[in-house]
Amino acid sequence: MSEPRSDVTGPRIIVALDFADAQQALTFVAGLPPALCRLKVGMELYTAAGPSIVKALVDRGFEVFLDLKFHDIPQTVARTCAAAARLGVWMLNVHTLGGMDMLRAAHDGVAGMPRPPLLIGVTVLTSHAPADLVQIGLSADAQGQVERLAALAQAAGLDGVVCSALEASGLRAKFGSAFRLVTPGIRSAGTAQDDQQRVSTPLAALQQGSNYLVIGRPITQATNPLAMLQQILGEIAHY
Ligand code: C5P
Repeated sequence: MSEPRSDVTGPRIIVALDFADAQQALTFVAGLPPALCRLKVGMELYTAAGPSIVKALVDRGFEVFLDLKFHDIPQTVARTCAAAARLGVWMLNVHTLGGMDMLRAAHDGVAGMPRPPLLIGVTVLTSHAPADLVQIGLSADAQGQVERLAALAQAAGLDGVVCSALEASGLRAKFGSAFRLVTPGIRSAGTAQDDQQRVSTPLAALQQGSNYLVIGRPITQATNPLAMLQQILGEIAHY
């Protein structure tokens, strides 16, 4: 098993900025220190606010995960990943269902950049229960599906995958310590699950081998987001 890469450092919590516009997002982050968390810009905020919101967050000292789950023909994805890298993002993702040629093209699209972002593959959405997988023509075995797609991602040169914490220990054992595992679907004990199906607590996710915890609503909808972030950091402090 390879050694962890030295850049698996810094904040483990990535706050999902699922806001409707730039103003709400920037007002929210004004209360968060970049030393305590990274930020995720997903399709809602990006569609509303465009590349300037990413640049604004980078300028405020945050490391940004651009979560747009690219899935298209190889050349389009390669060029789009390069464009995302030029925004200065720390991490970006593509959908592994795009297949090997698309994943390799994504890798090649950012590999030559001066500071290439981490390139992560989306496997199975954490909002999908087994019945949902069957409905879209996939096996009900989420773990098997995630492992097959993660193997594709690793073979294509990607840095890791997005997965549920429930799959993380199997992936960690199979793909080694350098392979990044990014896990949404994180909920502290006793809090609302929202639309997530395959959830885990922050501490359990890290214990299962996750490197980064993506947390949205539990922090963004909290009465005091910074206090909630600090509470979650407290839950994982001794890990
Ligand atoms: O609010 P919550 O903590 O459920 O937010 C989770 C975030 O992670 C959302 O922005 C969602 O789009 C994202 N995500 C996910 N499952 C994936 C990939 C991304 O929930 N497989």
